[in-house]
Amino acid sequence: MTARILDGKELARAMRAEIAESVASLRERTGVVPNLAVVRAGEDPASVSYAGAIARAFAGAGMGFNLHALPSDAGQEAIVAVVSQLSADPQVHGIMVQEPLPQGVDAAAVIAALSPMKDVDGVHPENAGRLLQDVGEYFVPATPAGGMELLRRNGVVFKGAQAVVVGRSNIVGKPMACLLLHQHATVTICHSRTIDLGAVTRTADILVAAVGRARLIMGEMVKPGAVVVDFGVNFQDGVMVGDVDFETVSAVAGAVTPVPGGTGPMTNVMLMQNTLRAAIRQLGG
Ligand code: NDP
Repeated sequence: MTARILDGKELARAMRAEIAESVASLRERTGVVPNLAVVRAGEDPASVSYAGAIARAFAGAGMGFNLHALPSDAGQEAIVAVVSQLSADPQVHGIMVQEPLPQGVDAAAVIAALSPMKDVDGVHPENAGRLLQDVGEYFVPATPAGGMELLRRNGVVFKGAQAVVVGRSNIVGKPMACLLLHQHATVTICHSRTIDLGAVTRTADILVAAVGRARLIMGEMVKPGAVVVDFGVNFQDGVMVGDVDFETVSAVAGAVTPVPGGTGPMTNVMLMQNTLRAAIRQLGG
């Protein structure tokens, strides 16, 4: 079997056009332009490159973007002050705090300063708790939200499926598991202490890798015909590779997201969608 490629690049392009239309119509009706503030301390190369990609995507859709770049030795108090000020600023609709934060800075204290209404990457405990309970209006972290959208728009059936998520971070693994559960999949979460990972992953109709280990998931760990979602972003000899060994996995799986061009492009789009939603919510919509 040769797996169907779940093309995130193409879907992201289509969704960016949809979002740009909604942004233009909001601006016409209300004069408001959805505006994202990104806060960074230091110049971590991956964070710098991600912020650049967000800036380009937001500009392309007619959305506002402001970078608040603090020095790498910025203390907790200074970072919290910037986040608090942005939380109170009516011109700012969404806020994203980039990690890693400088050593010694308590990420939880920084996140606590975020207004949950502006927390467009879904990291505030209020949004995470609402996601867990699936109650009220909440923001879902952009990466797993993008992965789900990619599956949904490709007609993947969640109800009754066995889903295995490898990785339990607050930003990817756990929210992805919640989203699959809300869609009535039967969900198992694996992590670094899981014994015999392959035995678990082979039970999956939907297999999600959110680990950060290049090519951890090999073809022999995948059930024939499974849908495989690769969130991994790793570099091997300067080449970007996922957590999934694409060559062996695509020979077994029914469908797979490529790296690059799968879940990555979807992340930006969901951040745009969340920022648009945040602006509409703040206007009372
Ligand atoms: P974290 O490092 O926070 O979490 C990694 C998870 O993988 C942990 O739960 C860890 O287990 C688990 N793990 C580590 N080694 C193994 C192993 N050998 N077997 C099984 N589980 C293991 O990473 P993130 O969740 O932040 O990111 C995951 C990947 O997704 C990374 O490659 C990252 O670059 C990428 N990413 C991609 C984005 C995108 O837009 N596509 C956005 C954000 C991240 P334990 O909890 O026990 O330590």
